[in-house]
Amino acid sequence: SIQSRMQCGCKTDDKYTEHCCVPLCSASSKFNGVLSFHSFPTHSDLRSRWLINIRRDPFTITSHTKVCSRHFTTDQLIEPTTPDGRRRLVRGAVPTLFEWNGFKVDSRLTSPV
Ligand SMILES: [Zn+2]
Repeated sequence: SIQSRMQCGCKTDDKYTEHCCVPLCSASSKFNGVLSFHSFPTHSDLRSRWLINIRRDPFTITSHTKVCSRHFTTDQLIEPTTPDGRRRLVRGAVPTLFEWNGFKVDSRLTSPV
């Protein structure tokens, strides 16, 4: 049935196209192999921080709801150690870079170039 298909969360198909759920971000793994796509954290406090930052609170998260690596600062991303490895997030990472803030963290905290 449709319902069981939606809940299977199958990861067997490597060609599965991932999409970023962030508003104004159209990133998709189909067209961009450089980006990585990250699932929401299971910890509810952390998850709500993601939702608030993404400005999609309330929002229903499924196993296919992903946030692309464009929204994380480099110190929150762990680069893969093997060629076919996946980029991971540090513990407690929260997406902070968005279209509406110019993909920059609060400029008052960093000196202007
Ligand atoms: Zn994105």
